[in-house]
Amino acid sequence: MLALNLRTVELYDRLRADGVEFEMHDDGLLVAFLDEQGLQSEFAELRKVERYGFPAPQRLGRDAVRTLEPSLADQVVGGMLLPAERHVQPRSLSLGLMRHLERAGVEFRSHTSVDGFDLRNGKIAAATAQRERIGGDLFVLTAGVWTRRLAAMVHVPLPLEAGKGYSLMLPATGEPFRHALYFGDTKVVLSQYRDELRIAGTMEFSGYNATLDTRRVQGLRKAAARYLRAELPDERGQAWTGMRPMTPDGLPVIGRLPGVENAFVSTGHSMNGVFMAPVSGEALAELILDGKTRADIGAFDPRRFVRH
Ligand SMILES: Cc1cc2nc3c(=O)[nH]c(=O)nc-3n(C[C@H](O)[C@H](O)[C@H](O)COP(=O)(O)OP(=O)(O)OC[C@H]3O[C@@H](n4cnc5c(N)ncnc54)[C@H](O)[C@@H]3O)c2cc1C
Repeated sequence: MLALNLRTVELYDRLRADGVEFEMHDDGLLVAFLDEQGLQSEFAELRKVERYGFPAPQRLGRDAVRTLEPSLADQVVGGMLLPAERHVQPRSLSLGLMRHLERAGVEFRSHTSVDGFDLRNGKIAAATAQRERIGGDLFVLTAGVWTRRLAAMVHVPLPLEAGKGYSLMLPATGEPFRHALYFGDTKVVLSQYRDELRIAGTMEFSGYNATLDTRRVQGLRKAAARYLRAELPDERGQAWTGMRPMTPDGLPVIGRLPGVENAFVSTGHSMNGVFMAPVSGEALAELILDGKTRADIGAFDPRRFVRH
C-alpha cells in the first residue's frame, strides 16, 4: 500500500490541475503525544515509511512541538512532523469530483439503491434498483462496506465488516491551527479547514448501522481538548458517523470479480479510502482498459476470499 501511495499526492495535484475544485491543505501532519513511551513506539513505526521513499518523520521534543503549534497544551510531551502529508475537506472533495465528472458527461443517480443483478451466462446484463433496470457493458462494484451485499448477489464472497467512525464539524472561530493534528495516544484527528474544524476518530465494530452514539461524539471532543491550550468552539457542531469498509487482512479489494466476466470491484480501503482513492482509481482504470496495471496490486486480488 505504501509503495502504491507514493503517487497519491502527485495524483491529487493532477486532479486539481485538471480542474477538480476542492479544499486541500499542504502544511503537513503534526502528531502529538501525552505519553513518552507511546511517542517512541509510534516514531519507530512511522520511520518505516522511509524505506518506501516517503520523507522521514521529524521527531520533536516538548518545546519544539509547541513552537510549531502554540495551541498545544503543556501536557503534550512531544511529537512528530510528517511534512509531506496533506488534508482535504471531505465534502468539498466529493462534490468537486462529482461536478467535474458531471461536466464530462457522467450521470449520477442519487438515492438509487441497487438491489439485484441480472446475471446471464456469467455476465451481468443489468443492475436492478427497485423496479428499474439499469443495463450496461461493464459494472464496477464500489459501494464501500455494502459491496459485501452486492457481491453476494452475484455469488462472490467478500468478508467486509463495518468499522464505524465518528466526526464532529465545528465552525472555526478561534486562532487557526497551523497543521492538521493527530493525537497519538487516542488516535483522534483534528483538521483545520478554511471555515471549519473537524475532529474525527474511533473504530467501533457494531455491525451495519448508522446509529449516532452521542457519547462517542462527546468522547472525540474530550479527547481533543486534553491536548489543547485553547478552548474548542462551544457550538454543538455537526456530528456524523460513517462505516469504513474493513477486510480481515487489512488490504483493499481491487480487481476482477471472480466468476463474472464483465465486473470489477474496488473496496476494502478501511481507514485509507481518501488516501488511496486516486491510486486505486488509476490501477482499476488500467486493469479495465489495458488488462494489466503498472503497480503490483496482486495482494488486493478479490480471489483471495474465494475457497477453491
Ligand atoms: C470518521 C472517519 C474518518 C476517516 N478518516 C479518513 C482519513 O483521514 N483518510 C482516509 O484516507 N480515509 C478516512 N476514512 C475512511 C474513508 O472514509 C473510507 O475508506 C472511504 O469512504 C471508502 O470509500 P468507498 O467509496 O469505498 O465507500 P463509501 O465512502 O462508504 O461509499 C460507498 C457508497 O456506496 C453507496 N451504496 C451502498 N449500497 C449501495 C447500493 N446497494 N446501491 C447503490 N449505492 C450503494 C453508499 O450510499 C455510498 O455512497 C475515514 C472514515 C471515517 C468513518
